[in-house]
Amino acid sequence: MSFDPETTTFLIAGPVRIHPRVLRAMSVPSLNHRGDYFRGLVGEIRELLPVAFGTKGHQLVLSGSGTSGLEAVYSSLLPVGRRCVVVTNGNFGERSAAIAKKFSQEVTTVTAPWGEPLPVEAVRSELEKGDVGALCVVHNETSVGLANDLGALAPAVRRAGALFLVDGISAVAGIPLPIEAWGVDAVVAGSQKGLAAPAGLALVHLSERARSALHPGSYYLDLAAHLAALEKNDTPWTPAVPLFLALREALLLLKEEGLDHRLARTHRLAEATRAAVDALGLELFPDRRFASDTVTAIKNPAGLGDAQLRKTLEKEYNILVQGGQGALVGKIFRIGHMGIADWPDLLVTFAALERILGKAGKLPRPGEALRQIVERMP
Ligand code: PLP
Repeated sequence: MSFDPETTTFLIAGPVRIHPRVLRAMSVPSLNHRGDYFRGLVGEIRELLPVAFGTKGHQLVLSGSGTSGLEAVYSSLLPVGRRCVVVTNGNFGERSAAIAKKFSQEVTTVTAPWGEPLPVEAVRSELEKGDVGALCVVHNETSVGLANDLGALAPAVRRAGALFLVDGISAVAGIPLPIEAWGVDAVVAGSQKGLAAPAGLALVHLSERARSALHPGSYYLDLAAHLAALEKNDTPWTPAVPLFLALREALLLLKEEGLDHRLARTHRLAEATRAAVDALGLELFPDRRFASDTVTAIKNPAGLGDAQLRKTLEKEYNILVQGGQGALVGKIFRIGHMGIADWPDLLVTFAALERILGKAGKLPRPGEALRQIVERMP
């Protein structure tokens, strides 16, 4: 079997598989983005956005991938003349720091090695030094399959009076984020991850406090301009019309499933994945206590590199999982299990992994990984 995008088992760390309803929703003639139909669509999306974030707030959709949302938030919210602290323990934390440095002269990074837990004490003491206007942190570090414990930071962020700005790109609709309880001021989601919509949109949630702190920083991504247009169910510039149509359908699917159910299902799939990884005799890459529920990062077994493992999955079994990034290329592989990923995806993937490891003489307990998954099925 060779790779076939129409029928592949698609488990990369996002974009994720898209439901046929969402695909069909995009397939319509051009719409007038200043006409009543499109305004109605924007209105519906506005009503549905709290389903994704789990709360109400000032919420909007930007035409651009997740990074556009981060750039919008940082350019409109990083306080001028005050410090900005960015936490990094993986590729996307480092990217956040790079974006923040474009819009603030006073960025301090607090760093842990890739895959290690958030350095909570170091962040707290940085906040206590004072004059911190914003803390930027990634909720789910996709590059290493690790969920950062933002709850542990929340009280210190509040005490410091800093804006709490969260990259939730691979977390929203996959990992619980109690926005109100933790006092989060901005969250950025990517359409192509937990929401299972096509790539190309960023969703942004802002608190009341963030809304009143907005300042102009970018033209295209000026959040105040986007919010002002949204009051009239409008967008300031020509939006990615087909993606908005797809997003409405993806949000409707999420509403039908229910956010709590999607979060619980994603957690269950993640637990089954981790148990199956153990049963294969493989090792998780990140600290297990903080292993992500949306993407599992696994060390490549000794002697089996990408060519033997990931490429065989793709070429022989039409299964796509993802490799490592940066220094982790060839050292880890990642399985995404967010959005509409489900039990059959895991069963097929781990059956193929059992076969590949078995043929290489590296399968300690044949059938055990599948048994671990089956036992966790509803
Ligand atoms: N932040 C995180 C946590 C991500 O997972 C990603 C993409 O995988 C990004 C930022 C960048 O998002 P995009 O590629 O949609 O611009």
